[in-house]
Amino acid sequence: MIKLIDSHCHIHSFGPTSEDQTSRKWAKLGLGPDEIINRARETGVEEFICVGTELEDSVAAVSFAQASTGCYAAVGIHPHEAKRFFSNPKASAEFSELIKQPKVIAIGECGLDYYYQHSEPLDQEKILRFQLDQAIKNNLPLIFHVREAYSDFWPIFDSYPKGRLRGVLHSFTDTKETLDMAIDRGLYIGVNGIATFAKDPLLKEMFKAIPQNRLLLETDAPYLTPNPYRGNINEPKYIVRIVEFLAELRKVKLENLEQATIDNTKQLFGI
Ligand SMILES: [Zn+2]
Repeated sequence: MIKLIDSHCHIHSFGPTSEDQTSRKWAKLGLGPDEIINRARETGVEEFICVGTELEDSVAAVSFAQASTGCYAAVGIHPHEAKRFFSNPKASAEFSELIKQPKVIAIGECGLDYYYQHSEPLDQEKILRFQLDQAIKNNLPLIFHVREAYSDFWPIFDSYPKGRLRGVLHSFTDTKETLDMAIDRGLYIGVNGIATFAKDPLLKEMFKAIPQNRLLLETDAPYLTPNPYRGNINEPKYIVRIVEFLAELRKVKLENLEQATIDNTKQLFGI
């Protein structure tokens, strides 16, 4: 059986030291991380990238990954958390230490989010640039979260030497034009459950148009549960549903698409 990879989930975010909103979601499911991993393994999902959203949550992702087979960690500060990060004078030193730990394979999630604007755009840019610099310095790929902010994101991205930044645009739901800009820059495209319930025909066309050698699968669990499981808490086991849906939409053989996404994920993250 093919061993699928969930390239973006938050299964480490349990307990008081982790991201509150996410741990409350997991509490509703009523299962611990080991049970969630076992349920995923039963469906053929064997590897998991646990993505941090702020410093404490990234610390949790790293220790979780180190203790769990098949799990890797990404260390990142989400744009929502920019302001809080800079109010802690020790944060940047701690970040720089954390990314050197075993099983850290990427920096993220990082980016710009103008949909919620929990932090000022200038603070968001500052924390994004800090992470881009760290990625280059440590030769790590990036996991980007960009929402309604591509007009500012590309000039920042393009201000770095061509080819130095590599990564994935996670939870990608933007236009075909933005997709083309991402592909031109060598980026990968992360697709999750949103594809299964998107109604906009243009968005469907965009999901079809992602080159197979650039496509990554992710759940963003516990968020964004795919159809027909809407209403449940999302889990990495639902990767299977996402790849089945995409294979049908794109009219390709399931096994080929599964293998391509595994190869792409390994290529990007070096796992
Ligand atoms: Zn996420």
